[in-house]
Amino acid sequence: MASVHEAGLHRPLEWDSPLYRTAVAQFDQAVPYADIDPDVAERLRYPERAFIVSCPVRLDDGRRVVFPGYRVQHSSVLGPTKGGIRYDPEVTLGECAALAVWMTWKCALLRLPYGGAKGGVRCSPSKMSQGELERLTRRFTSELLPIIGPKEDIPAPDLATNAQTMAWMMDTYSMQKGHAVPEVVTGKPISIGGSVFRHEATGAGVVMTIARACERLDWKLNEQRCVVQGFGNVGGIASLELIERGATVMAVSDVSGGIYDPGGLDIPTMSAYAAEHGSLDGWATGVRVSNEELLELECDILVLAARENQVTLANAARLQCKLIAEGANGPISLEADAILRERAIPILPDVLTNAGGVTVSYFEWVQDLGRLFWGRDEIRAKLAEKMNDAFDRVWDVSSEKNLTLRTSALVAGIRDVGVALEARGLYP
Ligand code: GLU
Repeated sequence: MASVHEAGLHRPLEWDSPLYRTAVAQFDQAVPYADIDPDVAERLRYPERAFIVSCPVRLDDGRRVVFPGYRVQHSSVLGPTKGGIRYDPEVTLGECAALAVWMTWKCALLRLPYGGAKGGVRCSPSKMSQGELERLTRRFTSELLPIIGPKEDIPAPDLATNAQTMAWMMDTYSMQKGHAVPEVVTGKPISIGGSVFRHEATGAGVVMTIARACERLDWKLNEQRCVVQGFGNVGGIASLELIERGATVMAVSDVSGGIYDPGGLDIPTMSAYAAEHGSLDGWATGVRVSNEELLELECDILVLAARENQVTLANAARLQCKLIAEGANGPISLEADAILRERAIPILPDVLTNAGGVTVSYFEWVQDLGRLFWGRDEIRAKLAEKMNDAFDRVWDVSSEKNLTLRTSALVAGIRDVGVALEARGLYP
């Protein structure tokens, strides 16, 4: 199969972006080991569809403002597409495309019957009222109606979106259909078909992955000193889970900056404070450090749970950790990845490490479709089983082929999608 460029489209494609190029470069590193047909591989380098909308929204002061929104569906080979919706001033089509590609490998790696998608609205959510966010969400959902659905594409929370956002999406979609359709989104409130343990799932999965890695490395998790960048749904929960397993969390950060105490932070109290005040701004104990300083603190495990592109050429040589866990998607740039490989600092890659969220999203969707709900212990156990199984497959590929954990995770995911695509064949 000729590439799109060979077919005559020499200008960069609309979804081209630095992050998309990173996703494709990672794919190109992994694909030679995935043992799939080159034509099949070529097809998987491009999203299947990209949808651009504009959402006029009435603000509280009466003005009408138009917000651009995006949804990219990378692959529907294994099932409906799946992935979060982010509200962020930096959202672009190209960013969504990269994140959608990673969702495909993540879902395949966890053996979920989904392909990857990602979407978002370019806005400043911290400056918007609840009413404005609700109107924006409802309008964005209406614009997405032609492409979302329980069998088509199933959104979920991501940066700056949450269970309330999903409730508005579910309600807007359901009102259009004339009946409740809880299975159209995941990460909903439990009262309308959400799953217990979905809120905690990403952070808990991060720590399940770290725990498995510690076993393989012969480290004791309760002796590890950790630094966590990000204190939201991923970093905040991961910090709590680390403490529960006896590890020390020496530093955390959020939008208000970082807080460091080499003796260990009081994470449960900080977490209650952040829930009450919206951030750690004003938290009085510990030493204040900048986000940049936090990343370079001497520690055993660095958990990157904020956002993409945090470790780059600018700081990769200065990190002083022994292991990195990617709670966020794409937190390490391609160049930084190479430096860390040379420095022999192992990275637990995003598509494995943060897959707890989409895995419990899958459990939520299954429960919604069956109208039969499971308990917390059952879900936690099912999640651990899936995370550990994926971890072991990645670890095995890494030892067999002498590849990094990232490339190994991508090889495992790409191979399953490639095999499925080959079985389905080319339409028409
Ligand atoms: N936004 C999360 C992720 O990046 C969860 C996606 C989902 O649950 O569908 O994996």
